Amino acid sequence: MTTPQPPALQYSALQLAWLQELGIEKPWLPSEQPPASKEIAVVIKQVRTPAATDTVPPAAVMQPAARLPSANKNRSPAPAPVSSTSEQTKVDTQPLAAAAMDMHALAETISACQACGLCRERQQAVIGEGVMQPAIMVIGQAPDDLEDRAGKPFVDRSGLMLDNMLMAIKSSRTQNVYVSNIVKCRPPGNRNPKPAELASCKPYLLRQIELVRPFSILAVGRAAQSLLETDQPLDQLRQKTHTFEVAGQKIPLIVTSHPVNLLNHPSEKAAVWQDLQLVKTVSGL
Ligand code: SF4
Repeated sequence: MTTPQPPALQYSALQLAWLQELGIEKPWLPSEQPPASKEIAVVIKQVRTPAATDTVPPAAVMQPAARLPSANKNRSPAPAPVSSTSEQTKVDTQPLAAAAMDMHALAETISACQACGLCRERQQAVIGEGVMQPAIMVIGQAPDDLEDRAGKPFVDRSGLMLDNMLMAIKSSRTQNVYVSNIVKCRPPGNRNPKPAELASCKPYLLRQIELVRPFSILAVGRAAQSLLETDQPLDQLRQKTHTFEVAGQKIPLIVTSHPVNLLNHPSEKAAVWQDLQLVKTVSGL
């Protein structure tokens, strides 16, 4: 019995021209790219080093100040606390104190956090990695079991797919991208985090965004609905420039599929390509 093959990808003439222009007309399959994980700096370790704290990135990865959106100037220090919902349980004061932390203190606090039940089964908190003041901050929903073991966001095949997506717009975690999740600890069985867990962890993300100072946000998969606080289907959120506000600063937010979705549904690539073009445009890349 032969195994059914997925339908061949169909590109419009415009999409094909884009692909050829950037030299990536080959499919974005992880097996076609060299392993990227060895090249990736582990910012979890960097943020534990005082020299790499707060908003002072290595000169080699700094974005010129002129490229920062005007709204990013004169940032105030504290993100707004998370609003309560009917499903939210008691919010621990530990995450709320994040508003005053530098990156080093934030990483230490997250690593030891017990503000919600997800701390019980995690191997380690997954904080983030990449460069400060990036063109793009990629945000997923929560770490999976592989990220939990590695202590890094977006690893293995989905990580390679993400790296290939970024490569398509000439970007990378070592150059101009920071990668993280909303929730820092793996939900058991890789389930979707509960609203109370998202609310508990959100102050950490808000402070992290404030410290990282991204030029734009690329929200992948269900993280888009969580960040935009909507139940709208992903398809209705795509190809639009949303705004995510942190501490009074407005950051453009673009929505796309989770890289793991591309592994399972390669035909999604054409739509993701368009999302990447949009984030590239709003980031000034
Ligand atoms: S998921 Fe967030 S709030 Fe919950 S224990 Fe982990 S770091 Fe703390």
